[in-house]
Amino acid sequence: MNLEIKILPMFDDNYGFIVRDPLTEKTLTVDPGDPEVILKELERNQWQLDFILNTHHHHDHVGGNALIKSETNCKIIGPVADSHRIPEMDQGVSQGDTVIFGKHKIEIIETPGHTTGHICFHFAGEKIVFVGDTLFAMGCGRLFEGTPAQMWHSLKKISAFPEETKVYCAHEYTLKNGQFALTVEPNNLKLQQRVEEVHSLRNQGKKTIPTTIGLEQETNPFLRADKIKTFSPDAIKSFEIIRGRRNSF
Ligand SMILES: [Zn+2]
Repeated sequence: MNLEIKILPMFDDNYGFIVRDPLTEKTLTVDPGDPEVILKELERNQWQLDFILNTHHHHDHVGGNALIKSETNCKIIGPVADSHRIPEMDQGVSQGDTVIFGKHKIEIIETPGHTTGHICFHFAGEKIVFVGDTLFAMGCGRLFEGTPAQMWHSLKKISAFPEETKVYCAHEYTLKNGQFALTVEPNNLKLQQRVEEVHSLRNQGKKTIPTTIGLEQETNPFLRADKIKTFSPDAIKSFEIIRGRRNSF
């Protein structure tokens, strides 16, 4: 049986997630910035929480750690590189590690760039990935700690997953990202069509998450920095210029 995934809006534009394996009744949450939202949803479903997974140390992703752990006695797993700055972390993980979740395996993918310790959680068997603030629908995270080269390689790692892989991003930035993407690739028909669809979804108050690797390959200017020759023939330089433009968009 497949995993059940709840996408939970919190703060202005964050998403936290609850993942449930119905077969083994194991339950985890990814990036619980707001503890109340997560605890309420667990309570509503009468679910016991086993794990918190943190992609990186920013407060809007780890703010719920302490309270949720004290209420549920769950185990907190995050990037080993950020052990000193993730509250209450029990287990540090790094590239190549595997976390067992019921009958499922979660592969740890290191994706430095947004922060130096950032990791993603890849359920390869289910073709699902939780990418935190590395990849967004038609966008990518700001480079707070890493270099353009690091972020470019991190994005390439994620985009190498199968096209149908579902990508759960931690913010609803899709519309603004799409409007920006059109300034970079105004003649990309697939992009034009997608931005129209996103407009319509947002007008109805609907989420635009998850996206897929295939859709991002066709419409995300950051993943396409090596195909977009407008700015530089060098992929990393091209990526850096596009990221810089998005910062002031
Ligand atoms: Zn962040």
